[in-house]
Amino acid sequence: MLRIDEASVRALLLDIEGTTTPVDFVYQVLFPFASQRLDRFLRQHSRDPEVRAHIEALKAQQKLDQEQGLHPPELSGESEESELRSVDRFAVTNDIVAYAQWLIARDSKCTALKTLQGKIWQAGYESGELRGQVYPDVPRAFERWRRQGRQICIYSSGSMLAQQLLFRTTPAGDLTVYLDGFFDTEIGIKTDAESYRKITAALASPQRSVLFISDAIKELDAAQAAGMQTALCVRSEGDKSVPSRHPVIRTFDEVFP
Ligand SMILES: [Mg+2]
Repeated sequence: MLRIDEASVRALLLDIEGTTTPVDFVYQVLFPFASQRLDRFLRQHSRDPEVRAHIEALKAQQKLDQEQGLHPPELSGESEESELRSVDRFAVTNDIVAYAQWLIARDSKCTALKTLQGKIWQAGYESGELRGQVYPDVPRAFERWRRQGRQICIYSSGSMLAQQLLFRTTPAGDLTVYLDGFFDTEIGIKTDAESYRKITAALASPQRSVLFISDAIKELDAAQAAGMQTALCVRSEGDKSVPSRHPVIRTFDEVFP
């Protein structure tokens, strides 16, 4: 059986979805939250130039989707009447909301949409309507690894701000006090070995002293190619045997107990 070389690990690098946090949190909580509040958010911020720019970017994306035969919801375009009456220039139409909701349902990576979602989640976290979720073994592992003198960092496709909000608002309290670094796709995508080389450089740690934990084998392969140690996190009860080139863990309780 593959094993983690525990003595050499000085830093842990953790994926979020499927590793620290149930994948359901994203699909059952975050996406519906953004979808339900999109209409109100766009109307409330329709005069914010940044939000206007995102709406224009959504319109451009809708054209692309149409050209690619994806059959997105139609946009009616500005009516002549609204062009004449400047008071309506900033109106947010129902069809742009419907189109954005269509994008959310498709798990779209469209940058304008992701930014708008991020703003809606931020408002939700700040008002206390949204709270971050982590598996029960996560807070005690953070506390233990910290006591052992190990660094703990996060690497996720979600923006750095979204990561911080998630860990700051868990039912177990503010877990960012245990975290030494946050990395997102600004440093590169998670399936590219180069991203992991850049992270070890940023941590000023030898590659072998960093343990990357994720539920995605492609990400682990990339980290391994960059010289990191790896562990595959298997959270679902169903998967009894998982063939893998990586040591397998089921909870963080197994890592440096
Ligand atoms: Mg994951």
